[in-house]
Amino acid sequence: MLTGTKTAVISILLVGAAIATPTKSGYISDVETKLAYHRMLELSDRAVNLTISYEVNMGDSRTTALDLKWMEADHSVSYIKNHLYSSNLMLSEFNTGLGLPTSDCKQNYNLNVFIVSNTTMFDDNRFDSYLNKQGKSPSERAIYAFYDPTPRVAGDSNVVLSPIGNDRQDYLSIQHELAHFWFDRLCLAKHYSGTSEDYALEYEKHAIKYYYPEGF
Ligand SMILES: [Zn+2]
Repeated sequence: MLTGTKTAVISILLVGAAIATPTKSGYISDVETKLAYHRMLELSDRAVNLTISYEVNMGDSRTTALDLKWMEADHSVSYIKNHLYSSNLMLSEFNTGLGLPTSDCKQNYNLNVFIVSNTTMFDDNRFDSYLNKQGKSPSERAIYAFYDPTPRVAGDSNVVLSPIGNDRQDYLSIQHELAHFWFDRLCLAKHYSGTSEDYALEYEKHAIKYYYPEGF
């Protein structure tokens, strides 16, 4: 009887997980991931439908189990959530200072965060098409993190991260990509004179004032 009950509960959970498969950026469509967190996260003045997923071992030599374990510990669910909490607070202060709106324009603009290994993030050629579009030679720069509004799926966006083991750079990378998310969610293109990239770079300068090496 008890076993039967347990089986039923597990089936329900599996169905739930299958429904909640988050939209994944085309740049990492080949990377297998597992969903670790899915919640409507209550922030101080808004709620964000947030998912957090991690790369899983695909059984080839690209990553080792140890890489993946370290990645999950370094960019844990609570670490990502804390970044979102603090970014929401910094956003209000930053936007107010610039005379920009602080309230949502697209309340249902969801955030799907993917944490991938360094091997995946620094894969040769992965971002060539993006860099070429930006007029940059692929050898010119490495991408540490990126934001993808996943235009083919309305209401969803991606932030893709890979811990690089430098706390300050990891902090700035996450805050920078979250700034792109807020730029779209608050429809700041209508109010800010520059591009989303200009906004994210300016926001970084604000966010660094709140960086403490010992963490949150
Ligand atoms: Zn950017």
